[in-house]
Amino acid sequence: MTEPPRDTHFGFRTVDLDAKQGMVDDVFRSVARRYDLMNDLMSGGLHRAWKDALVTAVNPPRGEQPFRLIDVAGGTGDIAFRVIAAGGTETRATVCDINGEMLAVGRERAAERGLDATVAFVEGNAEALPFPDRSFDAYTIAFGIRNVPRIDAALKEAFRVLKLGGHFLCLEFSTVDVPGLDTLYDLYSFNVIPALGRSVAGDAEAYRYLVESIRRFPKPSDFAAVIAAAGFRRVGAQPLTGGIVALHSGWRL
Ligand code: SAM
Repeated sequence: MTEPPRDTHFGFRTVDLDAKQGMVDDVFRSVARRYDLMNDLMSGGLHRAWKDALVTAVNPPRGEQPFRLIDVAGGTGDIAFRVIAAGGTETRATVCDINGEMLAVGRERAAERGLDATVAFVEGNAEALPFPDRSFDAYTIAFGIRNVPRIDAALKEAFRVLKLGGHFLCLEFSTVDVPGLDTLYDLYSFNVIPALGRSVAGDAEAYRYLVESIRRFPKPSDFAAVIAAAGFRRVGAQPLTGGIVALHSGWRL
């Protein structure tokens, strides 16, 4: 029997599969309080449009039909709050994240918005979700999957916790395929983002990791094959903003 690979990548560095999660956790622990501000600064507000595209695809019912969303790697709750705002009276969201600091910021934001009863925050690993089979109507993961060491395990878990007919949606940085934009994007990512990370979040290294991990992520057609291997059907990807981001989707049918 062949041993499964023990190595993965942390940005451009090759690291042990088990070491990666601890390094990722350090990154998000360090930036949790400034995370939302940094998103706006780094993307020039574009992350809001990308998240709107995700929520449109989730398409929660507007009436009184019950709808259960799980937002994995949901951090400070941004996606969950948007889905609740778009959905009807019986829409509920569970934010699951491995990092207690990110969840603590999310809980404070939920309390400020009066959403304590509609959004739950649960600490858990995307690779082994603490929920029963077939619990949710939709599973979202935004800018989270590339941080997970065993992506295939996370996708299998997504499939397991979705009900039959459930929708898997993944927003992730992707491959820029517009000539000219790719050069600009490189200059911006490797220079401006770490500088912003240093001055605003006090951690340039954390943001260097984020940029490097984006470059290592598979292109949409390769990632579609990984999603399909987890059991999903009607797998597709929609590039947004010249491919800076892609919205991947699949169904449990
Ligand atoms: N989805 C949020 C958003 O779009 O604003 C947060 C995205 S943030 C870039 C990535 C999140 O992934 C962090 O909150 C981090 O703690 C979480 N994360 C990393 N590894 C994880 C894992 N194995 N299981 C669950 N969450 C994880």
